[in-house]
Amino acid sequence: MDRYVVAGNPVEHSQSPFIHAQFAKQTGQTLSYDRLLCPLDGFAASVNAFAAAGGRGCNVTVPFKFEAFTLAPRRSERASLAQAANVLRFDAEGWWADNSDGVGLVRDIERNAGVPLRGARVLLIGAGGASAGALGPLIEAGPTELVLANRSLDKAQSLMQRHAALAAEHGTTLAARPLTDCGTAFDAVINATASSLQGAAIPVAASVLRPRGLALDMMYGPSAAGFLGWATQHGAQARDGLGMLVEQAAEAFFVWRGVRPETAPVLAALRARLGSA
Ligand code: NDP
Repeated sequence: MDRYVVAGNPVEHSQSPFIHAQFAKQTGQTLSYDRLLCPLDGFAASVNAFAAAGGRGCNVTVPFKFEAFTLAPRRSERASLAQAANVLRFDAEGWWADNSDGVGLVRDIERNAGVPLRGARVLLIGAGGASAGALGPLIEAGPTELVLANRSLDKAQSLMQRHAALAAEHGTTLAARPLTDCGTAFDAVINATASSLQGAAIPVAASVLRPRGLALDMMYGPSAAGFLGWATQHGAQARDGLGMLVEQAAEAFFVWRGVRPETAPVLAALRARLGSA
């Protein structure tokens, strides 16, 4: 049986085994998908051992996405732009790295939430691994303006510089700003910081929201409640990160199996399982 894992630390909270089991059942694919807890200084050794034992691929989660990228000699264009990988495939030619986070986010926003990004003004908060994966596909969706705001401005600036050519190609005005001065009334606000995970304060002023605009936190479960409540209270359309999670998983499944699963029933099953509306 073809074997896959999600590799991370911590990893016990991951919903990926449930999601991929649903995809496999739905598409009639025979595979197993488990969790692989890697020591913080032992990601490469753990994943090498899994691949050597016949593993076919893995998802990569915190804190190993940047390391996974550097370890793979072959990379997709979107992983190279992000310099981070959340998908590895073990081929005869060696490890191949990809990043499905951004395409998952864009599909969730446009298809599942029904919010068009073309011509929109977008605020992306955070400049860590999740933002790095999201920025390229967000630009490719064609917003007129994309502001990247982060607590450490230098990180936002370097991410912006790496994407400057892509933004010019798509006619998107790209800017890096501090959290305290990132603009107002965006059509879509995306929280890609770890603030919800940490139970910290909302990182930006409510003036970034506009009535019925989208406010999405990549976090999900009880930790996302603060951000979602804040967004709703200010009249925005609040959305958690579960849809993105399922969509990025579907893209990984496609990369490994060449088959695209239906995501809507799996997202519904996941929401039922987690008791989130
Ligand atoms: P990283 O650790 O790589 O980056 C964290 C980011 O959050 C940095 O930009 C950091 O700023 C910022 N930050 C941390 N704490 C605060 C705070 N209290 N206030 C403001 N900014 C803060 O994490 P990731 O990018 O990998 O993940 C970010 C979030 O996205 C996590 O909650 C993760 O669970 C979620 N995620 C969800 C996915 C999904 O499929 N739904 C997929 C990937 C991630 P600074 O640079 O200044 O340190």
